[in-house]
Amino acid sequence: MSVDITHDFYNGWYLERSRGWALGLALENKLFEKQSAYQKITVYQTQTFGKLLLLDDIIMVTERDEFVYHEMMAHVPLNVHPNPERVLVIGGGDGGTIREIVKHPAVKEAVLVEIDIDVINTARDYFPSIASELSNPKVKVLAEDGVAYIRNNQNYFDVIMIDSSDPIGFAEGLFQADFYQDVYNALKPDGIMTNQTDSPLLSPMIVEKTYCEMQKVFQHLFMYQGYCLTYPGGYWTFGFASKRYHPLNDFDPKRAQAKGLKTKHYNSHLHKGAFYLPNFALATLPATCEQVHWVHG
Ligand code: SAM
Repeated sequence: MSVDITHDFYNGWYLERSRGWALGLALENKLFEKQSAYQKITVYQTQTFGKLLLLDDIIMVTERDEFVYHEMMAHVPLNVHPNPERVLVIGGGDGGTIREIVKHPAVKEAVLVEIDIDVINTARDYFPSIASELSNPKVKVLAEDGVAYIRNNQNYFDVIMIDSSDPIGFAEGLFQADFYQDVYNALKPDGIMTNQTDSPLLSPMIVEKTYCEMQKVFQHLFMYQGYCLTYPGGYWTFGFASKRYHPLNDFDPKRAQAKGLKTKHYNSHLHKGAFYLPNFALATLPATCEQVHWVHG
């Protein structure tokens, strides 16, 4: 599965070009750069988006809009599952998804499995508002390959979130049926998995392939949407793969509101709306993926 992303630094601007589309961010200065064992890690101060984290020159996080992605990755499954005590994040070394997870009172254990320790350390040093909960006593941080880690866990987690980079290189394994089967086995009988599933507008082939892989394992498979300004095309999607719960029928807005979560994007109305998809997004879902259409109606 190839993702063509190229970049340029031009006249004080960072340009990310991908799939015939481009995004530019006005830069102020470079704060940090290191070639880790896995990738090049770069931090810039931008003019209007705060600090910017690039991995191999691809945008991962900006301080200005990261909350949308992290809140949608975390709060949707954690407000559907009735009692999410054990939660796992694979990838997510910036800490943003963990920050949202520990807001949920039911969470007793949150495990972060990030392959690259240098991403975690860079987040701690340069993105304190995002990495703020990495030292929370409920949080266990492991610098390991998620593909290997997941195989050693059976029937243990309530919710697993795949907060990965694009399906390139060492991240490609996180988009394949074998891995999803290991995730399925690591989840309890009523477990839920969420993952980032790219842009159906710019990468319909990648999206369709990812859902086909998930559908080989999960009976209940849904797509939901969010807008991430600094990701290709701005319109982004997430997978909701469940062993039992339905993202709307088993969602109790009163129970969610009673938690009093402090969020900047997520709310219970938006939760429901996120599953009502535009036709071009529905068109990227495997025709046999009946359950998803069930949502649309
Ligand atoms: N939100 C971002 C996005 O959608 O592009 C992802 C951010 S997060 C920083 C992605 C992380 O996944 C990276 O730090 C990368 O090192 C990590 N990662 C990639 N493949 C991995 C694997 N096999 N196991 C664990 N972490 C992995």
